[in-house]
Amino acid sequence: MHHDLLTELGRSLVSGSLEDEKLMAKTVDPQPVQILPEANVIKIGGQSFIDRGRVAVFPLIEEVVKNLGRHQMIIGTGAGTRARHAYSVGIDLGLPTGVLSVLGTFVSMQNARMLHYLLARHGIPFIEPVQFPQLPLYLAERGAVIFFGMPPYVFWHQNPAVGRIPPHRTDTGSYLVSEVFGARSMIYVKDEKGLYTADPKKERHARFIPKITVSELEELDLQDVVVEHSVLGLMKHATYRRSIQVINGLEEGNLTRALNGEHVGTIITSD
Ligand code: ADP
Ligand code: MG
Repeated sequence: MHHDLLTELGRSLVSGSLEDEKLMAKTVDPQPVQILPEANVIKIGGQSFIDRGRVAVFPLIEEVVKNLGRHQMIIGTGAGTRARHAYSVGIDLGLPTGVLSVLGTFVSMQNARMLHYLLARHGIPFIEPVQFPQLPLYLAERGAVIFFGMPPYVFWHQNPAVGRIPPHRTDTGSYLVSEVFGARSMIYVKDEKGLYTADPKKERHARFIPKITVSELEELDLQDVVVEHSVLGLMKHATYRRSIQVINGLEEGNLTRALNGEHVGTIITSD
């Protein structure tokens, strides 16, 4: 290797240690490109939304259709109650986290397939991770794609600090798609207005929180939150996806308003 062909960074990376923090700090510039800056990543909840069936899903599908041609949408799906059942059987059978992650992936894929067939006549494809290279084409041609929200870590999934359920699930997989593509937004469609001081289904006096930072949220140390904890952890080191919005998709018009950039639910920001 002719070292004079390399940039200064190139020489440092070839000869230095990738564990050297000072050297790693030199790799922040230039900023990564925003690959799909016009795309909006929308995660449709599993337990909170799709499991409710047609009363929840049909109006939202209609709203997605109305936004075709107005907003590019990369739609990820949650897994929900059937995944929790699969996890419980898997745990009972002594299966490790990596295998539970495989199970969760297939349930989230079932949901993606169902939404896909409801949108099929509009030419909206369902894509698996191996088809992500075609995603930009589909988005440009049809304005939307559907994928399963689980990040494809499967067997390579890290164990959680406590217990065995994969800590990176569909909120996380969708979030990471938004971050890596430098997308325009990350919208979580669930069944509550957004984040409250406690789960509003269990605590009648829970207060709504319209806007909060990750560190403020950590300080509150809430018993339960509306998105996966791992999303909040990832937000701290994000380049582009430094805000997410959680909305109530059961109220018609909320998705459209969120796509239009309006504040309709809870906005959580990195700082
Ligand atoms: P998904 O269907 O996207 O996986 P979840 O069911 O995992 O969504 O999470 C959304 C649910 O989280 C809401 O339906 C709500 O009942 C619950 N939840 C728990 N804690 C909170 C909180 N602090 N604020 C709002 N919702 C909460
Ligand atoms: Mg969830």
